[in-house]
Amino acid sequence: MYNFIYDINKNLKMETYNQLSKEFDKKVKELQSKCPHKKTYWAEHYWALAHSSGYKVRVCNRCRKILEEKPTEEEREKAQEEWFKKQERFDKKADKEVHEAKELNKKAREVVKRAKKLFLT
Ligand SMILES: [Zn+2]
Repeated sequence: MYNFIYDINKNLKMETYNQLSKEFDKKVKELQSKCPHKKTYWAEHYWALAHSSGYKVRVCNRCRKILEEKPTEEEREKAQEEWFKKQERFDKKADKEVHEAKELNKKAREVVKRAKKLFLT
């Protein structure tokens, strides 16, 4: 059977929550737009509980607006390590290519030497 009262209560609660949430967001936005952001602090940023985003953020004490972000020390070290590894792989590849080119050059010189012997004697 259709429960009319339950449906009304449910809708009222949802509307009230959504209204409050919208009002809150609007007021925070207003506050953040007017705030001079004088006192700030740096904090690690989490995208979920115990899940760091790998970024540090500078937050306003008064309005909680995120004003700046930069990678954490850990994240920066990780990026640097990755860059070094990439560089190492690149160097190895370049060394291999230089070695191959030298070998080809050697073979080409031998071919020229043989050709000279065949045609110039
Ligand atoms: Zn502020």
